[in-house]
Amino acid sequence: MSDSIIRLAPGDRLEMKKPHPCGGKIFSVIRAGSDVHVLCEACGHHILLSRIKLEKGIRRKLGTGEDPSARS
Ligand SMILES: [Zn+2]
Repeated sequence: MSDSIIRLAPGDRLEMKKPHPCGGKIFSVIRAGSDVHVLCEACGHHILLSRIKLEKGIRRKLGTGEDPSARS
């Protein structure tokens, strides 16, 4: 079993399968560790959840504005 299939870094934006109760589906990563701290972009709510739980809930990564192919 591999851990990190999805790379998470502060500033990443994620679209989740399940929307937040406020209706927002886009979350941005504040801090990524074994627990991940995310911010609901719709209502500004902070959420702390385990990385495993978060990864299961990610529909797709929206990117950071930083193009991975442009990495030197
Ligand atoms: Zn929200």
